[in-house]
Amino acid sequence: MHSLIDPHTHTLASVHAYSTIREMAMAAKSKGLEVLGITDHGPGLTKMPSEDFFRNFKVIDRNYFGIRLLMGVEANISGKNGELDVTAGALDEMDIVVASLHWQCFRSGSPEYNTKAVVEALKNPRVTILGHPDDGKYPIDYETVVQAAKANHVLIEINNASLTTDSFRLNGMENSRRILSLCKKHRVSVIMSSDAHFEGEVGNQTLSLNLIQETAFPGELVVNDSIEKFECFLAKNRCNSSKRAD
Ligand SMILES: [Zn+2]
Ligand SMILES: [Zn+2]
Repeated sequence: MHSLIDPHTHTLASVHAYSTIREMAMAAKSKGLEVLGITDHGPGLTKMPSEDFFRNFKVIDRNYFGIRLLMGVEANISGKNGELDVTAGALDEMDIVVASLHWQCFRSGSPEYNTKAVVEALKNPRVTILGHPDDGKYPIDYETVVQAAKANHVLIEINNASLTTDSFRLNGMENSRRILSLCKKHRVSVIMSSDAHFEGEVGNQTLSLNLIQETAFPGELVVNDSIEKFECFLAKNRCNSSKRAD
């Protein structure tokens, strides 16, 4: 499989990331990608930009060095009712929205509590991708979450950074295996991402791809190799149910 899309990456704006949009786009081009998601962290994490940053994406050329840029956010799920740290008005202006759990914005509770928060976030029609649901620091009922992703037409992320041996996340490999097995069982689409915080990591989905191949996960449920498959998960297309390709 040749991946054309890296939907989830960070730039200098995320403070603990180190490259510019230009550097990320050039890296994407050199890796043979066609689509790059720039999804800096939402305002809820320490020292992140305010919402004004995310509301001014109109100034950015979406075709940059031949790469199609999707400007968005990695929003923080911040409460048990799936609240996000970015207002609906701002999310409406974005090309892509990743929703994730991070410790600064979400206090992990029981699996039932965490699962409810995630499921409620998945019901938000602006959410494109559930980011790194593999982190064992936030135990969730994977069967419930995978089915909610299907019902709400949200992609489940297979996050390359979670699969590295020095990942901050807990049991990323084991949990990603479980997620893939349930996505296969329920026919739920996934997307591989690098979650790059440096240009050198853009498009690095090696560990995710290895896992997908090793688990004999169905290729048609991985959207990275088809812009058309990916497109129908973007918010602007979701209202057109004829475009849906579960
Ligand atoms: Zn994250
Ligand atoms: Zn991220």
